[in-house]
Amino acid sequence: MALIVHKYGGTSMGSTERIRNVAKRVAKWARAGHQMVVVPSAMSGETNRLLGLASELAPSAAKTSYYRELDMLAATGEQASSALLAIALQAEGMESVSYAGWQVPVRTDSSYTKARIESIDDARVRKDLDAGRVVIITGFQGIDPEGNITTLGRGGSDTSAVAVAAALKADECLIYTDVDGVYTTDPRVVPAAKRLGTVSFEEMLEMASLGSKVLQIRSVEFAGKYKVPMRVLSSFTPWDIDLEEEAKSGTLITFEEDEKMEKAVVSGIAFNRGEAKISVLGVPDTPGIAAGILGPVADANIEVDVIIQNISKDGKTDFSFTVNQGDYQRALDLLREKVAPALGAAEVVGNPNIAKVSIVGIGMRSHVGVASTMFRALSQENVNIQMISTSEIKTSVVIDEKYLELAVRALHTAFGLDKSE
Ligand code: ADP
Ligand code: ASP
Ligand code: MG
Repeated sequence: MALIVHKYGGTSMGSTERIRNVAKRVAKWARAGHQMVVVPSAMSGETNRLLGLASELAPSAAKTSYYRELDMLAATGEQASSALLAIALQAEGMESVSYAGWQVPVRTDSSYTKARIESIDDARVRKDLDAGRVVIITGFQGIDPEGNITTLGRGGSDTSAVAVAAALKADECLIYTDVDGVYTTDPRVVPAAKRLGTVSFEEMLEMASLGSKVLQIRSVEFAGKYKVPMRVLSSFTPWDIDLEEEAKSGTLITFEEDEKMEKAVVSGIAFNRGEAKISVLGVPDTPGIAAGILGPVADANIEVDVIIQNISKDGKTDFSFTVNQGDYQRALDLLREKVAPALGAAEVVGNPNIAKVSIVGIGMRSHVGVASTMFRALSQENVNIQMISTSEIKTSVVIDEKYLELAVRALHTAFGLDKSE
């Protein structure tokens, strides 16, 4: 008997029929003798629908003063899907109970809309498991020290599931989704993408942080910190397939490096459409310029990604960086109204439609020339590179958003990742 955590994403919970299928699958695992905890997302589209209602009432709902209520609102999506799953399980003859984050409780800090899990109390859940119940815990949410409901950021149910698995010292955390594993790149963009049987924790961390939304990055961080065995697999297989076969399907996230294994130089391509670029032009090139520009941006709670500073000419330099598209206007206004006049910059310009494409692979550590293969493949397609950023196991380029799909496909082919058919 093992303790297993299942997580089901929005599409997997997308209708009563799909919820019934999830219930049948979970019941199969429970009847095989496992203790089961299930973490569902809201039904697909529900979180967007709820947040859309908020912005109808307050078009500037992105303001931080609204964040507490946005969390209160968005958390209802997971509460509904969790209760529906408990009802479906009971209708299947399984004893089952659902809990909202605050009832467990899942304790978080107070950063509304992107809270971090601090601890999870396992007492209540263990009591239910010992009594033979399937326990359902809402994904995406928790409670802060003052008793407010918080949410964990978009895609946060992955993190809830892994954190619950870590707290319960579960034998495995299975992330069920609408694709049958982690692919070399998003299979919806590159049909030739291949499923990976295993992917190393480090590569998965890079892929997630560089935009592969198949797993929220914090879930991968949690899995690494607590060594939670984790697998990504499909919820769209027939629920009654052989359990042993199902348990081995999909993609396993591995923590041990197998030295004997020949590493692919590039194992995946990640991308992020939602970025924007801002350039502060003609700033006096004096010490403290980066802090002078990025300090106020950070104080405004705007995350900065790729940064470049040009060499100076006549004592002046240009400074560019990328932010999330959602923060673009706020960042631009702040720089134009406050930062540029204070620093004596000539001009602030921006482009809200850029994308970042990254190649990721542990094998890049021991291979030279990987970046130049990347740049050549992009130049052959006439894709202009605006910014470059590298680390030991990834190289990212910032390009015009309209060339994104072309770039991803070209790189997928250039690094020999296309499936052979
Ligand atoms: P869920 O609702 O189950 O959490 P998500 O939509 O958050 O599902 O994540 C699954 C989606 O991630 C897939 O449908 C796929 O389009 C996308 N995706 C992006 N990159 C990858 C990748 N490398 N491998 C698999 N899926 C990916
Ligand atoms: N429902 C939340 C979202 O849409 C969390 C999740 O699905 O993981 O972002
Ligand atoms: Mg997701």
